[in-house]
Amino acid sequence: MSAISLQAIKKSFGKTNVLAGIDLDIRDGEFLTLVGPSGCGKSTLLRILAGLEAPSSGSVMIGGKTVNAVRPADRNLAMVFQSYALYPHLTIAQNMMTPLRLRDLSFTERLPIIGPMLAREKYRKLQHQVQETAKVLRIDPLLDRKPGQLSGGQRQRAALGRAMVRKPIAFLMDEPLSNLDAALRIHMRSELAELHRSLGTTFVYVTHDQAEALTMSTRMAVMMDGHILQLGPPDEVYNNPNHIRVAEFVGSPK
Ligand code: ADP
Ligand code: MG
Repeated sequence: MSAISLQAIKKSFGKTNVLAGIDLDIRDGEFLTLVGPSGCGKSTLLRILAGLEAPSSGSVMIGGKTVNAVRPADRNLAMVFQSYALYPHLTIAQNMMTPLRLRDLSFTERLPIIGPMLAREKYRKLQHQVQETAKVLRIDPLLDRKPGQLSGGQRQRAALGRAMVRKPIAFLMDEPLSNLDAALRIHMRSELAELHRSLGTTFVYVTHDQAEALTMSTRMAVMMDGHILQLGPPDEVYNNPNHIRVAEFVGSPK
């Protein structure tokens, strides 16, 4: 059974039907891309998975349990935002520490003076995890810098690093490369694919860019008008499109 499963997901905003009953099983460890033209419902589907949006009907399942009522922060999914949303006044190390939230501390660990002493072990563990994660992402020499002193690609790795510290069951990304210039975007494609290989964590990746989907995915789900028209490995979708609109979208040879 797959860890994440979307079942009969429908979503409308007022009279606009955005998702028309989506069924999708996401496999453990895969790089799944949701790809399709602008407005087809990709972001809405990802936001429903993350818990940032409620479906009109249907179930979101994680580890065999329905999580429709579970808050985003408790789904153990890491949403990496387009803007990377790093705190500008904090160093990269501090940014990566912020996943340790107040509610992760016990009552006594929250007490003044004695609290920080008791929490020190947790703090040390987290510091170690930040170091290790930074090494994997090759941003360990940058930990004392502020986000403004980093390049776009480095900032993205820092944002990923912050998400990784929590060891999520999946990374959710919505057009994470769209703000980058063309050269960096192509560079980051291979960086992300490499990162996925080295982590082995599930990635759910939204893009309108068919080239990105074709080069990075384990499987791609081609969406049009709130439906998944085709789901499969890139070569299969490219060589055997099941629909004229899929063929046109991915640019299959005639
Ligand atoms: P995509 O990410 O594929 O470009 P979206 O999921 O962002 O598509 O949007 C799909 C459709 O839903 C669009 O027509 C969009 O205008 C509409 N939509 C998305 N979010 C809202 C919202 N909060 N309120 C009303 N309409 C929305
Ligand atoms: Mg979108």
